[in-house]
Amino acid sequence: MKIDVLTLFPEMFTGVLGSSILKKAQEKQAVTIHVTNFRTFSDNKHQTVDDYPYGGGAGMVLKPQPIFDAVSHLKRQSTISNPRVILLCPQGEVFNQKKAETLSKEEHLIFICGHYEGYDERIRTHIVTDEISIGDYVLTGGELGAMVVIDSVVRLLEKVLGNHVSAKEDSHTTGRLEYPQYTRPADFRGMKVPDVLLSGNHQMIEEWRKMQSFLRTYTRRPDLLDLSCLTEEEQYWMKKFKLENGIDMT
Ligand code: SAM
Repeated sequence: MKIDVLTLFPEMFTGVLGSSILKKAQEKQAVTIHVTNFRTFSDNKHQTVDDYPYGGGAGMVLKPQPIFDAVSHLKRQSTISNPRVILLCPQGEVFNQKKAETLSKEEHLIFICGHYEGYDERIRTHIVTDEISIGDYVLTGGELGAMVVIDSVVRLLEKVLGNHVSAKEDSHTTGRLEYPQYTRPADFRGMKVPDVLLSGNHQMIEEWRKMQSFLRTYTRRPDLLDLSCLTEEEQYWMKKFKLENGIDMT
């Protein structure tokens, strides 16, 4: 995979792209990531990239020319005809694991990080294929959003994670939150690891994890479950949980 990032603040990416899994993914050549300051594409002698909004109002708006030219340049260099051009924007589709999985199948992604008051609308309507928000709040710029999306996409690429199974069982990948995890010691200051995990019985452990994963999702994120489509096993776990916790069954 090839990833290009267009930003006015390339230095913000240094630590994140140069650490941990993102660093290893580049070393393993699972991905190449280039960060470009789109100010260098400005045709203005002062290299300005923003201007006052037509109609008045507070703040500055990113001009179309530098971003149009930067994207055209990256597209000309691309090995595919239509790379996805992703605009980070609080008005976009809210990012989730499903979107990360979709993007992880692409060969080339171009991210545009905004700043200031926003973008000239023609950027949105003429060159962008996806508008992504990382949540219902407003950031100063799109850089943190781009890093969030890049991290979640790159860790899904083949051979990037040491133990590939761990990505498959992650929260949201299965549609459920992940089950609780424990490590040594089995008894930490009187707080004990559930017996089943020490039993060595893999079938029982698997069953316990499925139940915990379901109950964790049911109690923390019921919006992720379609309660009308629960399996018999899940209905049983839910009833048992309600009985044990004195929750009204009506
Ligand atoms: N005035 C804009 C609005 O109300 O939609 C917000 C502009 S914001 C201060 C500046 C830039 O930060 C945006 O252009 C976008 O690139 C980025 N940004 C802000 N919040 C974001 C979010 N939730 N997700 C992704 N990018 C965001």
